[in-house]
Amino acid sequence: MLYIGRFAPSPTGPLHFGSLVAAVASYCDAKANAGKWLVRMEDLDKPREVSGAADEILHTLEAFGFEWDDEIVYQSQRDEYYVDALNTLQKQALVYLCTCTRKEIADSSNAMGIDGLIYPKTCFFKPSLQTSIHKACRVLVLENNIAFLDAIQGEITQNLARDVGDFILKRKDGLFAYQLAVVVDDALQGITHIVRGADLLDSTPRQIYLQQNLNTATPHYAHIPIATTLAGEKLSKQTLAQPISMSLAEHQLFDALKFLGQNPPAIIKNATLNEVWRWAITHWTLKKVPKNRSAHLSE
Ligand code: GLU
Ligand code: ZN
Repeated sequence: MLYIGRFAPSPTGPLHFGSLVAAVASYCDAKANAGKWLVRMEDLDKPREVSGAADEILHTLEAFGFEWDDEIVYQSQRDEYYVDALNTLQKQALVYLCTCTRKEIADSSNAMGIDGLIYPKTCFFKPSLQTSIHKACRVLVLENNIAFLDAIQGEITQNLARDVGDFILKRKDGLFAYQLAVVVDDALQGITHIVRGADLLDSTPRQIYLQQNLNTATPHYAHIPIATTLAGEKLSKQTLAQPISMSLAEHQLFDALKFLGQNPPAIIKNATLNEVWRWAITHWTLKKVPKNRSAHLSE
């Protein structure tokens, strides 16, 4: 198989227009390339999970006519693989334990990175001797630049030491972090192409760094603009994004294609769901996707 793509929702709420757009883009790109399309439920963060959301997301995907390949993978059942990966990094002396609280980090760091304060390596220089306290695992990053060519956003370069700092692989509460789990699962599932929202563009260099140190292949990346409210906020539960309704799936699919710059012809709007899908897959062009990190669907 030359193309294996995926959609990896977090069950923190029902699908909204923004997540539908990511599902549609990854699906069309996989199908237009005669590839497989896998669904992975990213349900690692149990405290943030909304009960019933995972099933609701799958029902919505079904109602929209998405057809996934293989079994659905649930990250909550895969700790053994994340443990293995952490061990591999530990053997290279790339991992250290951290006991710092948020407040301690805020008091000791004044460097703002792209994702909050840069961790000042306190526990790397002065490991805690306390054994009773809960510890997080951080990965040591390097000063060199990590660059990749995104199929939509172009050349992206990041310096992990300057822009991010030593990031968390396993949290104090024992949960594995998204950055580690996503890399492990993309590798184990043989994912070759990742099409997802541009809110994850800044995470990609961290993922490439882990791939390099875990000795796994780096997939092709394409980051689509994320859907925002008129005011420019990302659609999410916090901005009260409407869950997508399953009625009129064909209209919403049409809107998603429009958002993705595919210029679906107006007559398609009243076609059946199957016909809209057929049009979408035969006409899918990654090149037409707007090259912004975010966008609002214009009427
Ligand atoms: N689970 C992540 C999310 O819902 C997506 C992860 C990914 O596509 O890499 O935002
Ligand atoms: Zn620390």
